[in-house]
Amino acid sequence: MNNTLEMIRRFSDAKGPSGFEDEVVNLAREYAEELGTLEEDCLRNLYIYRKENTGTRPVIMLDAHSDEVGFMVHSIKPNGTLRFVPLGGWSKNSLVSSKVLVRNAQGEYIPGIIASKPVHFMSAAERANPTLEISDMVIDIGAVSDTEAVEKFHIRIGEPVVPATKLEFDDNNDILFGKAFDCRIGCAALIEVLKRLEGKELPCDVVGVLSSQEEVGDRGCKVAVNRVQPAAAIVLEGCPADDTFTESYAVQTALKKGPMFRFMDTSTICNPRFQRYVLDLAEEKNIPVQASVREGGGNNAAVINTALLGAPAVVAGVPVRYIHSMNCMTSMFDFEATVNMVCALLENLTPEQISKF
Ligand SMILES: [Zn+2]
Repeated sequence: MNNTLEMIRRFSDAKGPSGFEDEVVNLAREYAEELGTLEEDCLRNLYIYRKENTGTRPVIMLDAHSDEVGFMVHSIKPNGTLRFVPLGGWSKNSLVSSKVLVRNAQGEYIPGIIASKPVHFMSAAERANPTLEISDMVIDIGAVSDTEAVEKFHIRIGEPVVPATKLEFDDNNDILFGKAFDCRIGCAALIEVLKRLEGKELPCDVVGVLSSQEEVGDRGCKVAVNRVQPAAAIVLEGCPADDTFTESYAVQTALKKGPMFRFMDTSTICNPRFQRYVLDLAEEKNIPVQASVREGGGNNAAVINTALLGAPAVVAGVPVRYIHSMNCMTSMFDFEATVNMVCALLENLTPEQISKF
């Protein structure tokens, strides 16, 4: 694996559901140490101030959220299985029979399975409709009783749970398989952008932010925006690809067509002048991008757009198939195109241009 791929692997495999982003933050610190000054707040937002910043120019905030969708242990049943609640939005159809990791009181992640009832024990009604509500599912760690779960496995309520998925790369076909590409592929892109621009003169100051708790309501970003006071923002995302289940004429985001820039989603209308500037610059620089009109979803751009005195924001989404599930897909082609586009934006966006948005 080359260095970039290795970085993506480490970000994707890092365990950090909303509120428990520490492992991701520590990893980002390792990569960002050389790139600038680092700060952190109590929400685990990590701020990376480029060392080339002057402190006197307008600031462009480069955001990517560090958390992933996961779960939290709710209670321990007498038979030793664990009830759990979602952290972020999961489709209940994607869960049963998945392998997960549950953090215990000693801070170790131990394996478990989201239990599925064998067909042998299902009633006719259950066979016809086997889908459970998340509140009816359990994680089985292999304990035989609640006492054993607590005393031997050191399970406690309130502990986080993540998919046990490890990154795989199909080199021949350029497909990355893994978990948490929303938004770890964005975190990796943020670091890669700052690395590629290291030592370069840019027209504006740039502050990279790995913001926490996006999946539970953009909570980290709501705090981060106050510290950064951005004049404009580029929000990196892993964004949902719809190309395998949407009629071709209506596809909004496809794999291997470059970053997706949304005109709107349910949380925000991206600044139309900034959005147009991005699409024009992409054409001029010959960088593949996609534009979409989203009927669902939301992201940190909504917060930045309306915080303080308001700041124009666009969203560069790396297309991810089967997002918010245990097994997602993305590609190095899309990662590269995203990094190239964001670098081009930071090299070209002047204070004067931003004031026209
Ligand atoms: Zn996201």
